[in-house]
Amino acid sequence: MKVDVLVCGGGCAGLGAALAAAREGAKVLLLERAPFAGGILTAVGLPFLDGIACWHTGRLVVRGLALETLVRLGQVAPDARQIEEIKTPTGRALLRHGSVCLYNIDQFKILADGMLAEAGVKTLFHAFACETEVANRRIAAVRFASKDGLTRVEAHTVIDATGDADIAAWSGCTLERSTERMPMTMHFRIGNVRFKPETHGLAREALERAHAAGALPYFYGPGISSVFASDEGYVHAVRVPGNAIDAADLTRAEMQGRRDAWTMFETWKKEVPGFEESYFIGSGPFIGVRETRRIAGAYVLTGNDLLERRPFEDAIATGSWYMDIHPNKATAGSAHPKEEKQTPPQPYDIPYRSLVARGVSNLLVAGRCHSATREAASSTRVTVTAMALGEAAGVAAAMAARDAKGAAEIDGRRVRARLRELGGGPFTNEH
Ligand SMILES: Cc1cc2nc3c(=O)[nH]c(=O)nc-3n(C[C@H](O)[C@H](O)[C@H](O)COP(=O)(O)OP(=O)(O)OC[C@H]3O[C@@H](n4cnc5c(N)ncnc54)[C@H](O)[C@@H]3O)c2cc1C
Repeated sequence: MKVDVLVCGGGCAGLGAALAAAREGAKVLLLERAPFAGGILTAVGLPFLDGIACWHTGRLVVRGLALETLVRLGQVAPDARQIEEIKTPTGRALLRHGSVCLYNIDQFKILADGMLAEAGVKTLFHAFACETEVANRRIAAVRFASKDGLTRVEAHTVIDATGDADIAAWSGCTLERSTERMPMTMHFRIGNVRFKPETHGLAREALERAHAAGALPYFYGPGISSVFASDEGYVHAVRVPGNAIDAADLTRAEMQGRRDAWTMFETWKKEVPGFEESYFIGSGPFIGVRETRRIAGAYVLTGNDLLERRPFEDAIATGSWYMDIHPNKATAGSAHPKEEKQTPPQPYDIPYRSLVARGVSNLLVAGRCHSATREAASSTRVTVTAMALGEAAGVAAAMAARDAKGAAEIDGRRVRARLRELGGGPFTNEH
């Protein structure tokens, strides 16, 4: 196979990248190992799209494809410039600033299918990119495994949106050195719960007892929200430390996550009033991976860049989420220990160079594995920001293919200008 742009990974970043590159006229192939796009958003089932707006004021800071998606889902008005109040499917006002809550994950999957088809992206689900061929510091080909067997594909530009920087790592790119990793989480849902004001407190105490008795190695929260229905608990309290780029450890984490989810359910059913008639709806289909590898690209975005709001001429997206580092320990009450709570930064610039890999000339890396320190990535990793990074990578990759250039030869200011024409790009300082 031969294409202009090969996108590996169809999470929020890969979806943005594939759509943007195809809309710019490139011939695009998208490979995704799951049977749907959306990545962690749809594989874990989480309904929150964070990073769309400024945490402090609610001003929209990401438009472009992310906003288009939310508009097409009926979540945000087409001319919105401000997120005033977001209602969850149960009609409750959402307390999180900077976020939009999806009504249904499957609706997102179906919309993504339609948008990929409309844009003319050749999409292969159940397709795992598994090897790269590098020659003259360039990715000459990527091999992927699917039900067709092994296929070799050549692309002018490759976009690594695997979340784990698989393509970059296998091609010998420079990687960020941090080996610390946030825990994974298996999300799950429990139906037919009669919630009362005291339910969350009692559920937390029950988890604390299970943890003390050794039945639950880790947990946080109780991490229960009823976003989908008023009698349903959507639970994100599981916490599994591990290394998701080690196949055996990832398998162990899936098993542990499933077991812990079931232990939580049984504990609540036995000990917390309101859960007596509840039933386990389901978990997964994948455990959620927060952190693995990142590249050390042409520019490594740092926590100070965020906090100081360093302006970049080649800014291609705006970030706004707080530095959301989950610890590898049990934390009752919240995801973060009180003393580690972060004040969300004001909206900040993310430069094009943080998408440009070092070591190979035709690779861009978007989403949670782009070039950033641990602190910076804990903010840029959220869904909407990942999609904005993907969109910028897609526009740049199409430019590179058209101009027969390498990724680093593309001037980020040109990418920024083109994104602006398309209604996207950074909205860091606009009021
Ligand atoms: C448990 C959990 C809860 C979270 N909660 C929130 C939240 O409430 N709000 C929010 O905004 N963000 C949240 N996040 C963060 C956010 O979901 C992710 O960081 C974001 O979705 C990253 O998008 P991505 O496209 O970069 O990566 P991913 O979503 O990880 O997508 C990578 C895609 O690549 C595919 N892939 C991987 N390797 C290969 C390969 N070799 N070949 C082919 N395909 C491959 C994967 O199947 C996946 O679809 C959460 C994350 C986790 C783990």
